[in-house]
Amino acid sequence: MIPKTDHYWLRNAHVPASLIGHIPEGDKRDRPTSPAPKEQDELQWVDIEIANGAIASINAAGILSYSQPSIDLQGGMVFPCFVDMHTHLDKGHLWERAPNLTGTFADGLKTIGQDSEYWDAEDVYRRMEFGLKCSYVHGTKAVRTHLDAGGKLAEITLEAFRALRDRWADRMILQAVCLVALEDFLTPQGEKLATQIAELGGVLGGFASMNSEIERQIDRTMAIAQAHNLDLDLHVDETNDPNSICLKIVAETALRQRFQKQIVCGHCCSLAVQPTEESARTIALVKQANIGIVSLPMCNLYLQDRQPGQTPHWRGVTLLHELKQAGVPVAIASDNCRDPFHAFGDHDALEVFTSSAKIAHLDRPYGDWCRAVTLTPAQLMGLPTVGQISVGLPADLVLFKARRYSELLSRSQHDRVVLRNGTAIDAKLPDYAELDDLQLTLPALKRRGFFNQ
Ligand SMILES: [Zn+2]
Repeated sequence: MIPKTDHYWLRNAHVPASLIGHIPEGDKRDRPTSPAPKEQDELQWVDIEIANGAIASINAAGILSYSQPSIDLQGGMVFPCFVDMHTHLDKGHLWERAPNLTGTFADGLKTIGQDSEYWDAEDVYRRMEFGLKCSYVHGTKAVRTHLDAGGKLAEITLEAFRALRDRWADRMILQAVCLVALEDFLTPQGEKLATQIAELGGVLGGFASMNSEIERQIDRTMAIAQAHNLDLDLHVDETNDPNSICLKIVAETALRQRFQKQIVCGHCCSLAVQPTEESARTIALVKQANIGIVSLPMCNLYLQDRQPGQTPHWRGVTLLHELKQAGVPVAIASDNCRDPFHAFGDHDALEVFTSSAKIAHLDRPYGDWCRAVTLTPAQLMGLPTVGQISVGLPADLVLFKARRYSELLSRSQHDRVVLRNGTAIDAKLPDYAELDDLQLTLPALKRRGFFNQ
């Protein structure tokens, strides 16, 4: 389908207007959020010239004649490669050996705690790579993963991450965030972890939940991040308890400390169940503190408001619309896949977008919301040339047969074509059987000490 030459045209492409031409200028954080496009402006009808793996030009469709090979996309949509900025590759694809039969958050924690006792670098590496293969085939170019890093887990997960990042360096931008209880940063162990993360070029992170010392924990975590010149990416308020106000505390602390690096807060579920006046005050603080928010709609739909035998009453997502309207950068991401916190998922950012459109009513104009899986997470991750379609950037694109959002969001688009540096990738989704020896072979699991408890 794609011409096998280093100079060709993609003709008659529908490209989201909000993803074209955001060539970086100055500090990404100073860039204003442009207004949402009108419906008729959502998609631009363009011809894209590709030369030597990069985007050479973008013109209105049909105005130029072509001396080079070309392919007529017939109005098919073209996205830049996706950015999945909140995943847990280390926990991924554990479901068969460590199912969470109630599906509750508490049992997720318990199950992962039991299973991770037996993790080693090979087990973690292979499950992480399986997830990355899925991401790559679905059209993702950059992934940020949280890594369980409490106690001895830090050595295992950080080692696996480093090996994976090296092996995939030519295909995927990988960022690591440590995941520990914030109280760890009150101990020498937390200081040591920050040093390890700095050496790895990663991001400092942890799980913030209400307790009697939460202010001190957040203050200390931020001070450590400042001392090591690290961005912060925190799990925050992943609960339906309206009294959970860690997001507010993070914003207040960032303002008080004049925190200079990028802060991202994930989940922020409780914001959606707080009185409007209170949530509006917090959103204003979040904006003032320049915090980015990442919502995990699929995982939070699964986990929040879950009580065995009862029908859930709310969807679990944070105030995506209100945050965005206030000018807060808002991303969405896949979170957990086939593990005790989310039984499903395939690392497909399009599925994240499709599901979020339904869960959170990301209705028209969709053109602005497609940034939530592309441009916005790229900016929050400090990747100014990713998540957009611009002249001079690598031709890392996802080509769909769907011509409009109603078509894009209605089918799985399993037949999408992923271009990397202008060439169609030929990789296929990994077979689940690749991990069978980690899931179902009882003697192998027993050798690792399973079932002896
Ligand atoms: Zn998470």
